[in-house]
Amino acid sequence: MKLQLTEEQADRQAHFREFADSEIAPHADRHDREERLSNEVIAKLAEQGCLGAMLSEAYDGHQMDAVSFGLVNEEIGRACTAARGLLTVQNMVVQSLERWGSDAQKAQWLPDLAAGRKIAGFALTEPEHGSDAGNIQTQAERDGNSFLVTGHKKWISYGQIADVFLLFARIDGQVSALLLERETDGLSIEPMKGILGARGSMLAELHLHRCAIPETNLVGNVGFGLVPVAFTALDVGRYSIAWGCVGLAQGCLDSSIKYTKSRKQFGTRLRDQQLIKRMIADMMVDIAAARLVCYQAGLLSETDDRDALKNMMIAKYVASNMAVRVAGAAVQVHGANGYSRDYPVERFYRDAKIGQMIEGSNEMLQLMISRYGYKK
Ligand SMILES: Cc1cc2nc3c(=O)[nH]c(=O)nc-3n(C[C@H](O)[C@H](O)[C@H](O)COP(=O)(O)OP(=O)(O)OC[C@H]3O[C@@H](n4cnc5c(N)ncnc54)[C@H](O)[C@@H]3O)c2cc1C
Repeated sequence: MKLQLTEEQADRQAHFREFADSEIAPHADRHDREERLSNEVIAKLAEQGCLGAMLSEAYDGHQMDAVSFGLVNEEIGRACTAARGLLTVQNMVVQSLERWGSDAQKAQWLPDLAAGRKIAGFALTEPEHGSDAGNIQTQAERDGNSFLVTGHKKWISYGQIADVFLLFARIDGQVSALLLERETDGLSIEPMKGILGARGSMLAELHLHRCAIPETNLVGNVGFGLVPVAFTALDVGRYSIAWGCVGLAQGCLDSSIKYTKSRKQFGTRLRDQQLIKRMIADMMVDIAAARLVCYQAGLLSETDDRDALKNMMIAKYVASNMAVRVAGAAVQVHGANGYSRDYPVERFYRDAKIGQMIEGSNEMLQLMISRYGYKK
């Protein structure tokens, strides 16, 4: 096995590295402080093909291979977690819709989502049902050619600006997926503020009271909600987050190397202190190992390998735990400065935590990964 980027992948990596440095990183602190992603950054992500990255060209997507998509997530994640989060959610919904949506749904939504003319949300979690997603209580009751949907969703990334939600509700008791449009009567969207990290993610709660959703907005069949529709999306989400965590950790390492080259204590630069060298080496090793697991997940996802799904989970698990460790080490290396807003590691430290919780908390992933251990 040879692990080497193709020329196209390497070019894309270089392009997005430069794009993230010049167009995304300068806005990251503002996104965090203002708790919103700027419209200019959203437009730039769309222009660069980030919002329909793996979508086929037939729907105006950019049809990137999985490794390229991973590299894009790494570079954007190195600059700004909230911007990478938009990429995650939009591609989750796009990929799931491309796979399970009807021809009419795909024609209506995919080109607009890929171009960033429309923003998508993924609405699964409820106040009382997070990990236990199979028990969600949002109800969709048949009414002629529509479903009347009533329920409460919480923690929905980009819910404040999403034009359409991939919404999960029970139809005849079975979890099913529906496309809920923002302008639907009976939907009220309540912004959520003051979260620990990824603060530009524009989270919202959705309150649905007898929202009429046409039956043509059912994605797949009744009962297809969790498996396969949500699972397809979550698989993309895990992969995107895993690479985003590698990027975040790389950002921490870059900042730590720069800082320790100039900061002096006891008359010596920090970079010359053995214990600091050890911390830098540990960060490098941690990042390199996680990056390899992400490459493996990407490569396997393009094959029929039956371990592909498991490897996505492993990648997200490894990379998100790694990012928390590396971000903690980076703050330590920066001392009190790392605890201040003058250096990006403070934001990275807060942002890193979310990777362990979403797209299946790491405990849920441990349970799911362990099941593979008992399969022949
Ligand atoms: C910033 C942010 C963005 C989010 N974006 C979205 C979004 O766009 N769409 C969406 O639908 N949701 C979103 N979420 C919600 C997220 O998916 C949930 O937080 C996650 O699924 C965990 O659910 P919970 O918070 O209800 O925790 P709980 O399910 O209540 O779990 C609490 C703790 O117990 C652990 N736990 C639970 N059950 C078990 C078990 N059986 N064994 C061992 N440990 C267990 C969990 O791992 C966790 O550590 C977001 C959350 C945040 C914070």
